[in-house]
Amino acid sequence: MEQVLKSLKPADRERITELKKETENASEFCIGYPVARDFDYSEIADFLSLAINNIGDPFEEGTYKVETHPLEREVIGFFAKLFRANPKDYWGYVTNGGSESNLYGLYLARELHPKGIVYYSESTHYSVKKNIHLLNIPSIVIRSQENGEMDYEDFENTIKMNRHKPVIVLATFGTTMKEAKDDVSKIKSIIKNLAIQDHYIHCDAALAGSFGAFMEPKLPFDFKDGSDSISISGHKFIGCPIPSGVIVAKKSNRDRIAHGISYIGSSDTTITGSRNGHSPLFLWYALKKLGLEGMKARYQHGLEMAKYCEARLKDLGLNAWRNPGALTVVIPKVPKTIREKWQLATEGDISHIICMPNVTKDQLDMFFEDLINAKEEAEDDFEFDF
Ligand SMILES: *Cc1c(COP(=O)(O)O)cnc(C)c1O
Repeated sequence: MEQVLKSLKPADRERITELKKETENASEFCIGYPVARDFDYSEIADFLSLAINNIGDPFEEGTYKVETHPLEREVIGFFAKLFRANPKDYWGYVTNGGSESNLYGLYLARELHPKGIVYYSESTHYSVKKNIHLLNIPSIVIRSQENGEMDYEDFENTIKMNRHKPVIVLATFGTTMKEAKDDVSKIKSIIKNLAIQDHYIHCDAALAGSFGAFMEPKLPFDFKDGSDSISISGHKFIGCPIPSGVIVAKKSNRDRIAHGISYIGSSDTTITGSRNGHSPLFLWYALKKLGLEGMKARYQHGLEMAKYCEARLKDLGLNAWRNPGALTVVIPKVPKTIREKWQLATEGDISHIICMPNVTKDQLDMFFEDLINAKEEAEDDFEFDF
């Protein structure tokens, strides 16, 4: 790095310094996106000088040796255990993010059930619609309840009408706007009660999957509850400088669709060829340092902040609310200056604050202060005057 910078022109070096300041400042005020930033990977920063590539299946040894497959397997193993997978029947890999993990889950489902229909609720993440389009699978959107959770009655009625077709469900454990959690065991029992033989449930647990096991009461989403595959994002709850994700699936299912490729000396089981080998290292490092206790403590801190945030906003007369156990506080849309400074995601007439593990009381207090002083924005108006 030193060498590279030495060769930069002063003006370019200045730009990097500026960019660093800007991104650090932006990071300070980010309470609207589920991105934890309380990580420190300096101990393993030296790995940035290596051309690591985790190409191929992490559970097979390929020909390229500059890789972190053993650590990647341990990361998958950690989540397989956390998600109560069968210890003899799990597989997975570290992806580029929750979206790719969802793509893999849907791909697996389609290969197993080529005649299936995908059902997902209207609160589902936008990546899912795109993935379904890419995979060219017929799909039906299910209504959501007011809290963002799937409307199970609508789900039941809809699959009843198509009961001759395999059912593929894309359930969400922690929707993007309201952090609502679809009940995987309820979904599974509806399918069972209708005696539909061919079915597959993929659970998109991008944010909440990393702390779902610590929720009290625990809500059904894991393998024992009925999921066939689960995806999470690595850069959300755990925190990672590079976007990353994890997909955990059943090995028996993956084996049915694997193809061997001689060029890399491994099975071509992943969506992309060359794969980031740094993220598995980062995730492994974070998991080893935190352990289950550390993960749990992070969730509890976030939860406390979310409770505090909800209570304070209510004191201010705002109609703030949370789903049970959620880190996300939903409020009516806030003025634009606030949305921009605090980077609050806004959809329709609601905004949200997500109390990730790095969010502090001081930070929230600053936000409340800004909110109190903010002027109500004018409704959309024409830019010109006559
Ligand atoms: C963030 C998110 C995703 C997408 O994950 P990326 O890591 O951004 O690709 C998918 N589903 C839900 C519910 C999410 O919150």
